[in-house]
Amino acid sequence: MKDILPKEETYWKTCYRTAEEIATAYEYGMIQTPVVEEASLFVRSIGRGTDVVEKEMYVFEDRDGTKVALRPESTASVARAYIAHGMHSLTQPVKVWYYGPMFRHDRPQAGRYRQFHQFGCEALGERAPVIDAELIVVAYHFLKDLGIQTQVHINSIGKPEERERYIVELSGYLRSKRSYLPEEIKQRLHKNPLRVLDSKLEEMKPIIEEAPQIIDWLGEESKKYFMGVLEYLDEMEIPYTLTPTLVRGLDYYTDTVFEFFEDGGEDGSQSALGGGGRYDLLVEQLGGRPTPAAGFAIGLDRVISCLRRKAEQQQGEGVVPQEKVGKIFFAQLGDQARRRALKLIETLRKDKIFVHHMLGKSSLKAQLEMANKLMVTHTVILGQKEVQDGTIIVRDMESGIQEIIDQKKLTNRLEKILRPAS
Ligand code: AMP
Repeated sequence: MKDILPKEETYWKTCYRTAEEIATAYEYGMIQTPVVEEASLFVRSIGRGTDVVEKEMYVFEDRDGTKVALRPESTASVARAYIAHGMHSLTQPVKVWYYGPMFRHDRPQAGRYRQFHQFGCEALGERAPVIDAELIVVAYHFLKDLGIQTQVHINSIGKPEERERYIVELSGYLRSKRSYLPEEIKQRLHKNPLRVLDSKLEEMKPIIEEAPQIIDWLGEESKKYFMGVLEYLDEMEIPYTLTPTLVRGLDYYTDTVFEFFEDGGEDGSQSALGGGGRYDLLVEQLGGRPTPAAGFAIGLDRVISCLRRKAEQQQGEGVVPQEKVGKIFFAQLGDQARRRALKLIETLRKDKIFVHHMLGKSSLKAQLEMANKLMVTHTVILGQKEVQDGTIIVRDMESGIQEIIDQKKLTNRLEKILRPAS
């Protein structure tokens, strides 16, 4: 878990604004669910055999003995909220977006944190290829708007019965290779054979490449559905790679599954920036009516480290626009001036004029040095004399020319400096 410091604020704000803008444009409404939920919600949805539930979930007993968990993701919470608030009676699909911290006791390694942050969208109550495509479009363009070009890896894992028939085939194939399988894969094969396809082990590459592909086990409807999604992506010119080994780690997915990888990513694109898919059975599984749905989640910590890397490569030019830096510094000299300064700064703030200041410093030299460093165009200076006669000095930093004005006219004068046209 980590602190997010003020120097990173610009990145987080830019991500938030970009997320809000694109989600709103596509008519997703914001939802905020609790960080703590009953643990059973995640066990029932994400699935018992999964790493997220078995190894990574923060579970503890509440004071009344209920087992609660810090949310490892938000899809299950959104599905729970959909049921709890009778959202099936609203116009479908119900489209929501969320933004916030998630918790997984993941192995510590680059790009993995135990508290991380996700932006996600969910569309509940409709099954149509265009819904899956819209979600991919939103996620893809969220990243693109931030300056990150991605490839979408996409696959379909069909319906549970199709998947079951495939798993029988896959297990048979993997057992025939048993003598070549590393120990950890043998265990995975026993617990969750689909996840063997996820393996990044070098020695597994040829075995996985030769493995039967799930797409060949899909029925007509599933195939047609998947083709429908791909046609939209073609239409939208979204670059995608058909990835037969993409199965995703969670149990609730059906049909379309996808992940986003940075183009030319640094670490051999081993870690996805985000992913998602369709989960037509989840709401019913959690006690609601049959409700087809789909969604995605993007990991913001990874997105931000990608943005930082890009900014560094461009030597500080920054993919992320710098926050607006103020053009004015407020300097003061003497105790009385400092007291008056605080008052004037608050008055200016109410008038929507932002000034840099260092009220803790008493040396004018140190303050002017700071003003230079911040590259302000003007510094206002308030000394003992000015406090007495109700005036203030406005200094043009470039020419060094100073004018003395009435304190009451300060807002007016600064407005002219900041917004010369008005
Ligand atoms: P998932 O729900 O596992 O598909 O995760 C979606 C995205 O969340 C991933 O692609 C990552 O970008 C991000 N993510 C998942 N787990 C972590 C973690 N432990 N630390 C940082 N980001 C994560």
